[in-house]
Amino acid sequence: MPKRLYIETVGCQMNMLDSELVVASLRKAGYALVDSPAKADTILFNTCSVRQHAEDKIYSALGRLKHAKKHNPNKIIGVLGCMAQKDQKQIFERAPYVDLVVGPGQLHQIPSLLARIEQGDGQQLEVSLDRKAASREEIERSFESYDPLRDPAMRPTPFQAFVRIMIGCDKFCTYCIVPSVRGPEQSRAPEEIIAEARQLADEGCREITLLGQTVNSYKYSSGGVTTRLSDLLERLHEIEGIARLKFVTNYPKDMSDDLILAIRDLPKVSRYLHVPAQSGSNRMLSRMKRGYTVEDYREMLARVRATIPDVAVTSDFIVGFCGETEDDFQETVDLVGESRFKNSFIFKYSERPGTKSAQLFPDDVPEDVKRRRNNELLAVQNAISEEDNLPLVGREVEVLVEGPSKNAARRHDHDGEQLQLVGRTHCDRIVVFDGNRRQIGQLLPIAVYDANAFTLFGSVVTRHVGPEVYSL
Ligand code: SF4
Repeated sequence: MPKRLYIETVGCQMNMLDSELVVASLRKAGYALVDSPAKADTILFNTCSVRQHAEDKIYSALGRLKHAKKHNPNKIIGVLGCMAQKDQKQIFERAPYVDLVVGPGQLHQIPSLLARIEQGDGQQLEVSLDRKAASREEIERSFESYDPLRDPAMRPTPFQAFVRIMIGCDKFCTYCIVPSVRGPEQSRAPEEIIAEARQLADEGCREITLLGQTVNSYKYSSGGVTTRLSDLLERLHEIEGIARLKFVTNYPKDMSDDLILAIRDLPKVSRYLHVPAQSGSNRMLSRMKRGYTVEDYREMLARVRATIPDVAVTSDFIVGFCGETEDDFQETVDLVGESRFKNSFIFKYSERPGTKSAQLFPDDVPEDVKRRRNNELLAVQNAISEEDNLPLVGREVEVLVEGPSKNAARRHDHDGEQLQLVGRTHCDRIVVFDGNRRQIGQLLPIAVYDANAFTLFGSVVTRHVGPEVYSL
C-alpha cells in the first residue's frame, strides 16, 4: 500500500515549483498523491509569509486538523516553506500536533525527516541559519537550492515547467520578509540550468519559465567568465523543442540593455516583462528602500518600449504603505495611468514582523483607506487593460494551449473531446476558445472575436484548403 500524501501550496511560483519537487521526491519514496486531507496519511502545507493573510490561512487549516490528529495520531502533519523558516519552533507552540517544520532551504531533507517521524523519533525541525547568525558563506550553505531531477508526471502540465535559476534576495526592501526566509541571493550554475532545460525539452516541455526573486539580477561567475541572464537566454534559446522562454520577477534597476536586446532578438523569448514598480511616489519608494526613483522607473520603461515596441509589461503595487498620503497615492495612480501595463497586481500593505518597515514606521493607513485605494487603482488599471485588449479583436494570435478553462473544469467537462480551453499568447494574454482535448500542449492560431480586461475570446483558425488539393 503506498502512503497517501496531501499537499497544499500557497504563495508564489517558487513555492509551486518547490511543491512539485517535494511531491516528486516523495513519490520516489513510495507516496501517492491524494486530493483531500481526509484521505491522507501525510499532510503538508507549503507556506508563504509575504502577507499576514497567507499565514492566517495556514494556522486556521492547522487548527482544523487538530481533531483529525487526535483520532489518528499516526497522521503526519508538516509545515514547509517561508512560514516554517520564519516561525520555526513557534509553529510547534501554536499547534503542538504538528510533526514537521522545514524551511525552504532544507526541502531535500523531507523524505528522511518523514522516515524519522515514522520511526517514532518525534517532532522534526530543519531550518536554515538566520541572516545575521554566521558568515555569508555559512548562511549561503544553509540555504540549499532544491533542484532534484525532474519528473514530467509531477507538473500540472507536462509541456510547461518552471526552472529555478537563483534563490534568495539581497535587496532588503523594507516591507519584505523574503531576504530573511529565502536567504542570500545565489545564482545556479548555467550548466546545471541548461542540463535541466534539455531534459525538460526531451520530455516534451515547450515552455520554460525561469524563476528568481529578482531574476534579472542573475549572475554566475566561474573561471573568469560571467554569465548574465541575457547570456543564459541565448544558450537556452538553442535547445530544440523549447518554443517559449519566460522569466519572472524582474527588479527595475537591473533591467540592463543587454537583456532588453536579448528579448528583442531571440524569438523564443516572450515579449512579456513583469517589473514591479510598487509605488509612483518617490517618498514611498525611498521608505520602501526600493533603490530607484519613479524617474528611474519611467526611464527604464521608455528604454524597454523603444527597443521592443510590442512588449507587454506588468507590474505590482503596494497601496497604503506606512505614511502614504492621498498625494503619494495620486502619484501611483498617475504612474499606472501613463504606463499602460498589461495588468497590475495590487496589494494592500501588510506589516510583517521582522522587517525593517515594521521596526521603523507605524502601519498608519487605516484598512478602509487601503481598501479604497486598492479598488481605485484596480479600476484605473482594468480600464487600461480592456482598452489595450480591444485592438486585438479581429486579429490572429498564437496560443500555447494550457488545458480546460476554469468553467470547463468546474463543469467536470472531462468525458467529451470537445471543451472550452484556455491558453496564453507569447506576451502572456489569456485566451479562451472551444477546442479539442488533443489540442492541449499545442501552439495554435486563434482568431480573436471578443475581449475584456482580463481575457481574449477566440476560435481556432482552420487553414483554408486550396483548390489545388481538389484538382488532384
Ligand atoms: S527585491 Fe525586494 S520585494 Fe523583491 S524579494 Fe527582494 S526584498 Fe522582497
